[in-house]
This record gives sequence, structure tokens and C-alpha cells, in this order.
Amino acid sequence: MISNLIGSQWRSPDVEGSLPIYNPATGEVIGQVPMSGAKEVDEAVKAAAAAYQSWSHTALMERVRLMFRYKALLEEHFEDLASIITRHHGKTLEESRGEVRRGIEVVDFACGAPTLLQGRTMRDVSAGVDQDLYRYPVGVCAGIPPFNFPVMIPLWMFPLAVVAGNTFVLKPSERTPLGATRLAEIFVEAGFPEGVLNVVHGGSEAVNALLVHPDINAISFVGSALVARHVYKTAAEHGKRVQALGGAKNHIVVMPDADPEITVPAILNSAFGNAGERCLAGSVAVAVGRAAEGLLGPLAEAAAKMVVGPGDQPGVQVGPLIRADHRDRVAGWVDKGVAEGAELLVDGRGQISRQGFFLGPTILDNVTSDMAVGREEIFGPVLSIARAATLDEAIGQANRMALGNMATIFTQSGKAAREFRERVEAGMTGINVPIAQPFAFFPFSGWKGSFYGDLHVHGTDGIEFFTRKKVVVTRW
Ligand code: NAD
Repeated sequence: MISNLIGSQWRSPDVEGSLPIYNPATGEVIGQVPMSGAKEVDEAVKAAAAAYQSWSHTALMERVRLMFRYKALLEEHFEDLASIITRHHGKTLEESRGEVRRGIEVVDFACGAPTLLQGRTMRDVSAGVDQDLYRYPVGVCAGIPPFNFPVMIPLWMFPLAVVAGNTFVLKPSERTPLGATRLAEIFVEAGFPEGVLNVVHGGSEAVNALLVHPDINAISFVGSALVARHVYKTAAEHGKRVQALGGAKNHIVVMPDADPEITVPAILNSAFGNAGERCLAGSVAVAVGRAAEGLLGPLAEAAAKMVVGPGDQPGVQVGPLIRADHRDRVAGWVDKGVAEGAELLVDGRGQISRQGFFLGPTILDNVTSDMAVGREEIFGPVLSIARAATLDEAIGQANRMALGNMATIFTQSGKAAREFRERVEAGMTGINVPIAQPFAFFPFSGWKGSFYGDLHVHGTDGIEFFTRKKVVVTRW
């Protein structure tokens, strides 16, 4: 059974419930995660609140020195972190390394706190009166990540919070809790004082206890759309600032002038990388005009040839899904799509019979946005192909989605790319890239039902989210 981190202590909580942690590539149980409740959450919040008293007054350069040490240790443990991700999430080692790198980049950004946390001043706003803006931490903050990036998404949350002087309670995903646990061990090793970061393992009971706890001031959440909405509503009702990132149904628009040599590998990466369990995964490829002619054959052929298998084996391109029930739900979408009138172009369900939670790349053609399969998030290696006569129609299809995380276009026309950028309602927009992921110094900026709140994670939005401003008006 893995432990919670409360203050300086790693504690096995005295709870009745626990859940198995799996290696999804084999189906083996590799550990147990405790299902903590309100009592454990309260202990963690108390430890964080006690630490806040001194941490919020610790000199900025001391906080930054510790963050630099954390960065150095994360680099030292880079391979260890990547293999932990692959072992309990399933993605390929190469994908895990990419995830760790993207996570560490937020720590790199947090090391810039001496610039990022500066305020502003204005002398003589009226005769003899000056005004100064200072940034203060907000207090005890909590982070609730999803299963699909067990290292990167926790790193979106607590480094920026703590470098700004806040203390933190992290509730990792109960399906992939080992990444956050290792991050916390390394955090302690870096020398941060006790209670600055606390970890409580559990599921919705622990989350709900965080959302209503009177001593928590900010909640950073990433997960599915319905839970994001619940978190946003409940935490806001309890007086907290909230950033809640939800699900996605991302469109890839392929113009007739796009080069299939570039587009085909990009679509494979976008749709099937991370086994499709990515909030920036391309879920619907919209072929505009005659684009389908040169695209579908090579795409189907290449998808059918992708190597499916355990993520730690060389040459594997598509790892397993997170759980058997999730794999079965994703496979159920294939039947549903066919029942709704889609045509099955590539069927990856042959992989289901092997050991582990596998499903191969699958492609459905002639999907429309009227079909549930063309509208709902699937979160697995299933790509839908839709058709549009014009760019205008393709943008219209993308904009019909209730979710607006990412959209990307492949074209050689600057005019088409510009029109797409201006009109598509997705907060992360790509032009000739498979995954439009903002780097740590830009915000991760989903729109519509993909995001509840106003300040996004990381970038200067992250600094704004984890600080409150005080304006001082002075006359001597
Ligand atoms: P999830 O919503 O099931 O779980 C996310 C977190 O919420 C977990 O820590 C879980 O313990 C908790 N939780 C789950 N159900 C709850 C409930 N009813 N009440 C309170 N808390 C609850 O999401 P997941 O399956 O772990 O992750 C996949 C989802 O996350 C996908 O929808 C994906 O698009 C989304 N996601 C979004 C982004 C983004 O940046 N927008 C990034 C990654 C993943």
C-alpha cells in the first residue's frame, strides 16, 4: 500500500478501502492505493496551513534556490520517472520521456520567480501620491490531476504554487498515483520544509473533501468535462479560486493542398500517440474537398501497421489503455459508430484478446458531427474521418463541438491557415503541427467546455492564479 505525505511523514492511512494499481501492459497488480477520506484531507490541510506561516515569509531567493535544486534532482531521476510512468500508465518509454521533459520545463519556468513575481509601481499618481502593486501568495492550494500524465500534470500545479509562497495538497489520480509519489519524494530530498507539499491518495471522496475545506483557497483541477464542471461549481461556491480543465474533441482539418507525406505521420501521432489518451489528441480528421483521395489509403495502411505492445519494448508505437473497462468502453464506441452509419476502415479490436489492456489503432470513416461518435470524447486510439466541401464547412464542424481544447490544420496556404486561426473556436490552435501544446511559459488555454475558470495553468496565467495582488496608496 502506498503512503500519504502529511507534513514530514509518509503515513499509511488507516482506511478500509484501497484500489489496485496495475501494469496495463500485463494486467498485473503492482500495488495498492489507499482511498483516503475527509479525515486524511483535513490532516494534510492542517500540515499545509502550519507550513504556510513560515513558507509564505521565506525569502524569495531561498524558495528559488530550493526550486533549482529540485530541477537538478528531477534531471538526475529523469529515467527513473519515465520508467515509473510507463510501468503504471502504459505509454511508450519515448512518450514517457517526452512527458517528463515537458513537466520539468514548468520547474524551469518556476525558477524565473524573481522576475515573474514582481509587482508594479507608479509615482505621483496624483500630487505627492504613489501607488505600488505587490503580489502575495493565496494560501493553501490543492491540485487534482487526471490519470493520463502522472508526472507532467502534477508539475503543472505545485511548482508554480510553492515558488510563489503557497503551500500545497496534491491528490494524485488513483489510477496512476506512482508518478506524483516519486515527485514528492524528490521534493523532500531537495530540502523543502515539511508541510510545503503534502500528498493525499484517494478518489472522489478525497476530492470532494478538498473542494469544501474552509482552509483551502485555490483548486487546480485537470480531468474529464463533467467532473471539471462539478469541481468548478462546488469549489467556487465555497469561496475558492478555481481553474478546472476538462475533456476534448479535437479536430484536424486537412486541406487539399496538404502534403500527405507530412500529414499522414502527423495524424497517426495525433490520434494514436499515448494510445489516444491525451486531451490534445486529434479525434476527428476532416478531409476538405479532394483531400480524402490522397490521404485515406496511406493513412489506413500506416495505421494498420503501427506496432502495438508493452511501452517498455523497443519499436512499440502504441501502448495499452489504462484499464480493461476503459478499453472495453472505447471498443464499444467502434460498435456505436458503425451502428450510427460510420464505415470501419481499420479495426484494432483484434488486440483485445492479448494479455494486458490493448486496443489497436482504429479508423471510422464518414463520421458526422450529428453522430455521438463524432461529438463525444472517446479517449482511446479511435480516429474518425469526416468530410467537408470547403474550409468554411470544416471550421463549422469543429465549432459545433461543445468542447474547444485544440484544433489543427494542415495546408500550404497562408490564407487558409490564417482564416482557420481567426475563426476556429479552440484555445490551442495548430498550423501544420499534430499537437498544439503550449510550452510552460504560455498558458494551456482550452476554451468552451474544455475549461472552467479564467486563469489557465502555467505561463504567466499560472503566476496570476497562485498570487493575489495588493495595491498600496502612499502619501508622506
Ligand atoms: P477524471 O475526471 O475521471 O479524474 C480526474 C480527477 O478527478 C482524478 O483525480 C479523480 O480522482 C477525480 N474524480 C473522478 N471522478 C470524480 C467525481 N465524480 N467527483 C470528484 N472527483 C472525481 O479524469 P481521468 O479519466 O483521470 O482523465 C481523463 C480526462 O481528463 C479526459 O477527459 C481528458 O480529456 C481530460 N484531460 C484534460 C486535460 C486538459 O488539459 N484539458 C489534460 C489531461 C486530461
